[in-house]
Amino acid sequence: MSEQGRPSNFVREIIEEHNRTGRFGGKVITRFPPEPNGYLHIGHAKAICLDFGLARDYGGRCHLRFDDTNPTKESQEYVDAIMADVRWLGFDWGEHLYHASDYFEQLYQWAEELIRKGKAYVDDLSADQIRESRGTLTEAGRESPHRSRSVEENLDLLRRMRAGEFPDGSKTLRAKIDMTSGNINLRDPVMYRIRKATHQRTGDAWCIYPMYDWAHGQSDSLEGVTHSICTLEYEDHRPLYDWYLDALGIYHPQQIEFARLNLSHTMMSKRKLLRLVEGGHVSGWDDPRMPTIAGLRRRGYTPESLRDFCDRIGVAKSDNTVELALLEHCVREDLNKRAERRMAVLRPLKLIVENYPEGKVEEMEAVNNPEDPAAGTRKVPFSRELWIEQDDFREVAPKKYFRLTPGAEVRLRYAYIVQCTDFKKNAAGEVIEVRCQYDPATVGGDSKGRSVKGTIHWVSAAHAVDAEVRLYETLFTKPDPDAEEDLTAALNPQSLTVLSGAKVEPALASAPPGTRFQFERTGYFSVDTHDSAPGRPIFNRTVGLRDTWGKIEKASS
Ligand code: ATP
Ligand code: MG
Repeated sequence: MSEQGRPSNFVREIIEEHNRTGRFGGKVITRFPPEPNGYLHIGHAKAICLDFGLARDYGGRCHLRFDDTNPTKESQEYVDAIMADVRWLGFDWGEHLYHASDYFEQLYQWAEELIRKGKAYVDDLSADQIRESRGTLTEAGRESPHRSRSVEENLDLLRRMRAGEFPDGSKTLRAKIDMTSGNINLRDPVMYRIRKATHQRTGDAWCIYPMYDWAHGQSDSLEGVTHSICTLEYEDHRPLYDWYLDALGIYHPQQIEFARLNLSHTMMSKRKLLRLVEGGHVSGWDDPRMPTIAGLRRRGYTPESLRDFCDRIGVAKSDNTVELALLEHCVREDLNKRAERRMAVLRPLKLIVENYPEGKVEEMEAVNNPEDPAAGTRKVPFSRELWIEQDDFREVAPKKYFRLTPGAEVRLRYAYIVQCTDFKKNAAGEVIEVRCQYDPATVGGDSKGRSVKGTIHWVSAAHAVDAEVRLYETLFTKPDPDAEEDLTAALNPQSLTVLSGAKVEPALASAPPGTRFQFERTGYFSVDTHDSAPGRPIFNRTVGLRDTWGKIEKASS
């Protein structure tokens, strides 16, 4: 355990060591630095919980900083969505909202300073030529023929680059480090490229834009970040960040790298997620099948369940893959405590209670949440004609089938014990109606000492509300979609099932969008925030009641 009573991890140990030695005077300032080129996903949730969680636990603060250095891929829509998602997850940056673009002028001045110190030069090589001359892991790079330009010439060229005198891609500013370095990031990395593009914040003020690596470390330094926490792929960039900070002689934050979240059956690259959106393979960034925070929210996930998930997966130094079942377990556990129960029939089949008087209606008392006595009870109308699930009747019952079959007794939840007497089929041989007799002495579902193993849910046909129910499976069939060459071929054709003829109890007619319920026996559902309308509700299944992965195994064994 750490000093805060939370499970410790190596990042906390480093911070606590710094606090003991006084390296940052006891301060903990972190930042979450998204690039606004897409919506945040569950991997970002891990980073957010870590960055904001550390600041909270050590009495520090966490900045939200947009790394907006790439105007052609970025937009205000993404900026707004990112802010909404961080807030929804339960975190707040207060007044500490920053942008790399806030520092464009300062970065430019620093670039001139590096030129004056002989540590940067303007290069005329194209992007392809730079890549080609950079060498490989086993082969040193080659120096550019423009590497030894004079300070005056470099300053003049950089100023003219800034003034827009040169076409896109015709020149770059590069750091003059070491073309033979074992770390390719140190082989004269590009600092600026020319891109005559309008930026969502700075408009047309700039036509040269800093590379992420040139902007990132200096942004951290300017904001006084103490612990700059990032994923492992930046470990090899740390020497470059240190080189820039040393060359400029400015304050050094401590960068700490951790293993990114990989989740089975899930793909988390924003670039690839964008392809799914643009290709129309999903309905948008917030499609309930997407691993985005917006998608998970629309699906019915709670912020508490995502934070719990992030706590449980912990923070480690080596890569691994977390099972999707753990994420589902977290939301199931959370919703079990707070989602009210309702009865909803997803695939309806008519059940006639032959001996129940026509026109009679009884209001049955139903418990809203057995896990939460404060949730109280509600009335559910019962009448002679009901809807039950097609699955709850079998003409010939398999072994251990405790539902309706000719002659069998079953409990209708909160109502009566009924005995199946008959059923009807249509010309196609499908069962279209089941008949039964009820025992009036069993009101409330009291079996009067008889052994009645099965309990099924139902909705009164005369009172039922028509609803649409959307069931989801994983977006990809393969456990590691990232490894697939062809992303669209790896898509699961069964990822969405729309049940448009569902029948739900009247209390659900006007449930507000976003409300979450447990439908008895069929799972946790939330009212869709996009398409649902009062009187014609649409429900997304967040997750089934049990671990479906376990069920799949049982079914196939
Ligand atoms: P992607 O490749 O998914 O687009 P990214 O790293 O390019 O992700 P950024 O907007 O740069 O996206 O990420 C912001 C922060 O979130 C970074 O600090 C990054 O390290 C972190 N992050 C991104 N993906 C994950 C992940 N899967 N697990 C943990 N942290 C992540
Ligand atoms: Mg990135």
